[in-house]
Amino acid sequence: MSAAQPVIELKNIHKSYGALEVLKGVSITAERGHVVSLIGSSGSGKSTLLRCANLLEDSQQGDILFKGEPVTWAGSGAARRPADARQVLRIRTNLSMVFQQFNLWSHMTILQNVMEAPLTVLRRDRAEVEQKARQYLDKVGIGDKCDVYPAQMSGGQQQRAAIARALCMEPEALLFDEPTSALDPELEQEVVKVIKDLAAEGRTMLIVTHDMKLAHDVSDHVVFLHQGLIEEEGAPDTLFGAPKSERLRGFLSATH
Ligand code: ADP
Ligand code: MG
Repeated sequence: MSAAQPVIELKNIHKSYGALEVLKGVSITAERGHVVSLIGSSGSGKSTLLRCANLLEDSQQGDILFKGEPVTWAGSGAARRPADARQVLRIRTNLSMVFQQFNLWSHMTILQNVMEAPLTVLRRDRAEVEQKARQYLDKVGIGDKCDVYPAQMSGGQQQRAAIARALCMEPEALLFDEPTSALDPELEQEVVKVIKDLAAEGRTMLIVTHDMKLAHDVSDHVVFLHQGLIEEEGAPDTLFGAPKSERLRGFLSATH
C-alpha cells in the first residue's frame, strides 16, 4: 500500500441549507490506511461534512477528490450538482457509511441486509456475495446471527451487522457517523472493538464520534469542528494532550 495516496480529499467545502451556512470552507484529507476523526459540538456540521464527502448532499463550493479524481460539477452555487451519475455511484459505493441508528432493513434477515447492496447495486454474483457476507459477519463476531431479524438483536449486534454490511461493499473507505452514540455503554465497547480492529488492519476511515477515547486511540489525525470551520486539528496526542484553542479546551472539559 502506498502510504501517501489520499482516498478522500475535501478542499474548502461550503454548504448552506437556505440561509443557514453550515460548512464555511472545510478541508480534510484522509490518506490510504489512515483514520481521521471529526469531533465537535452538536450542530457544528460533522454529519453534513460526511454526507457531502460521499455526495449524499450537494456542496455549493469547493472540491471533492476520490483517489485523486475530482468530482465533476454542473452549475454553480446553490444550483451546483454532480454532473456524472456514474461517478457519483462509484464514489458513494466506495465510501460506505455507517449511521448512528444502524438503518438496517427490518423485514430482512441479517444475512439479507448484508447481501442486499452488493447484489442490487454492484450486481455481484449471489454465491460469492453470500460467502463474503458470512465472512464479514464472522469478522464482527455475529456469524451465528445470519438468519435473525434486526429486531431480535441488541443495538451493539445491530451496529456490528451494519458495519459488516458496509464492509461487504468492499469500499475504499468507511465513513462512520456517531456509530456508538445510540448504544448503552457496555454495548458501545463491542462496536469500539470492531472499529479498533478495522483501524489496526489499515482501513481508511473517517469517523465522527463523541467518544474522545476512541478518537484518541484509533486516529492518525483529529479535526475539531466549530460552527462549520476547523478550529483546531492535529495528531491525537497533541490535540487531546495540549489543546491550543480555548474552544477546544472547553469542549474537551465538557465531554469528560
Ligand atoms: P452535527 O452532525 O455536527 O451535529 P449537522 O451537520 O447535523 O451537525 O448539522 C449542522 C447544522 O445544519 C445544524 O444547525 C442543523 O440543524 C443543520 N442541518 C442539518 N441538516 C439539515 C437539513 N437537511 N436541512 C436544514 N438544516 C440542516
Ligand atoms: Mg451529526
